[in-house]
Amino acid sequence: MSFKKSQKLYKKGLVNLVGAVNSPVRAFTSVGGNPLFIKRGRGSQIIDVDGNKYVDLVLSYGPMILGHRHNKVQKAINKALKNGYSFGASTENEITLAKIVCDAFPGMDKVRFVNSGTEAVLSGIRLARAFTGKNKIIKFSGCYHGHQDALLVAAGSGLATLSLPGSKGVPEGAVKNTLIATYNDLDSVKKHFDENHDIAAVIIEPVGGNMGVVIPQNSFLKELKEYLQTKGALLIADEVMTGFRSKFGGAQELLGAEADITCLGKVIGGGFPVGAYGARDEIMENVAPLGGMYQAGTLSGNPIAMAGGISTLKELKRQNPYAKFDNIGDKIQSIILNAGKKYDVDVTVNRFGSMMNPFFTKVEVTNFEQAQTSDTNKFAVFFWEMIKNGVFLPPSQFEAWFLSSAISEEDILKIEKAVNKSFQKIQEEE
Ligand SMILES: *Cc1c(COP(=O)(O)O)cnc(C)c1O
Repeated sequence: MSFKKSQKLYKKGLVNLVGAVNSPVRAFTSVGGNPLFIKRGRGSQIIDVDGNKYVDLVLSYGPMILGHRHNKVQKAINKALKNGYSFGASTENEITLAKIVCDAFPGMDKVRFVNSGTEAVLSGIRLARAFTGKNKIIKFSGCYHGHQDALLVAAGSGLATLSLPGSKGVPEGAVKNTLIATYNDLDSVKKHFDENHDIAAVIIEPVGGNMGVVIPQNSFLKELKEYLQTKGALLIADEVMTGFRSKFGGAQELLGAEADITCLGKVIGGGFPVGAYGARDEIMENVAPLGGMYQAGTLSGNPIAMAGGISTLKELKRQNPYAKFDNIGDKIQSIILNAGKKYDVDVTVNRFGSMMNPFFTKVEVTNFEQAQTSDTNKFAVFFWEMIKNGVFLPPSQFEAWFLSSAISEEDILKIEKAVNKSFQKIQEEE
C-alpha cells in the first residue's frame, strides 16, 4: 500500500494550512506518520488520493450515517442548488427540517438552526443562562462540547490526544463559571450545588463520545435530571454526536431523561454544516426575535444544508437501520474481544448503538480517568495495521468509531481480517 500522493499533498499543505489540516483531530500526531488525503467516497467506503480503498468507520466523525453520496441526498442537493445558494431570508426547507427534528424529540417545541455543533452548544448555554438568570455551568471531565472558550476545559479527545489539559488563549474569566464533574458520578455534581448557588445548567453528552465511547451507568442520566429539577437548574443534552445515532431522535429518550435544552449537529446536516438547539416553547421564547437572548447567523438555515439534512433524515427514517446497527455493532465488538483473547492483548470495547471503540486497557471504562489508562502506543500500532488492511479509523484512542447504514457483510469480513492482523501485530511488537 503506497501513500506517496498523500505524503506529497501533506508537505504541500503544510505551507499554507496549519499542520495541513483544518481540525486538529485529523492530524496523526498520536499515531505517528502523516494524514491521508481522501479523494472520494461512496456508500460505506472511501478512496484516498493514492487509490487505496477503505471501509470508513470515521464517517466525517459521525454525520455520514447513510454512507457517502447516498442517491437520494445527492438528488436533493442538486435540486436545491438550482434555486440559489443563500438568501438571508427564510425558505420553506427550514420549516420542513424543523418539523422533522421537533417531532423526533418529545421535549422540543421549537428549534433554531446554526452552522456547527460548537455554535449549537454555545447558544444552548447562553439560552440556559438567559432563562434561569444564573451564570455557572457544570460540565463533565472528558466531554467535548465544541471549541467555545467557556467549555474548553477537561474537554476530551482532541486535547487528550495532544496531551493538553486545556487550551492556550482561553482567558481565566471565560472559564470561571465552568465547574467540572465526573461522568457517572452524581455526587460530584451534588458537591458543586452544595458549594454554589448560581448554577444555570449541567451539560452532558448523554453517551460520552469524545473520550472514546463512555456509557452512562444504571440510571445516571435519569437521576441527574431528577436532581436538577429539585435545584431549579436545567439539563442540557449535547446530542451533537448522539442525535439520530441510536434511535430516530435522541439518546436521552433511551436513557430515561428528557433534557430541557438539546443541542444537535453532525447527522442532522448529513455532511453539510448544520447545527441546532431546541427546547420547549417556554425556553425558546427567550431567543431573539421573540425574546432578549441574541443569537444570529448569516448562513444559518442555509438552503443547501437544509436539503442535505431533510433528505438524510427522511431516508434514515425510511431505512430505520437501528436494529441493523446493533447487530453489526455486536459482531464487530465480538471480533475485537475475540482477537484480544487470541493474541493476549488487554482490550475493553464500549458500544452504544452505532458508536463504539476499543480501549487498550483491562479496566472497565466508565469515565475519562479510566479511558486514560489505555495504552496509546498499542493503539498506534493497531491504527496503522487497520489502515494497511483497508479500514479507516479516527487517528486517536479517544475517538468513537461510527457505523453507516451502507455497511455490508463483505465490509465486516474485511474488518474482521484487519482486526486479527492488527492484534497479531501488537502481540509481535510487545
Ligand atoms: C462534534 C461535537 C461538537 C462540536 O461540533 P462541531 O460541528 O465540530 O463544532 C460538540 N459536541 C459534541 C458532543 C460533539 O461530538
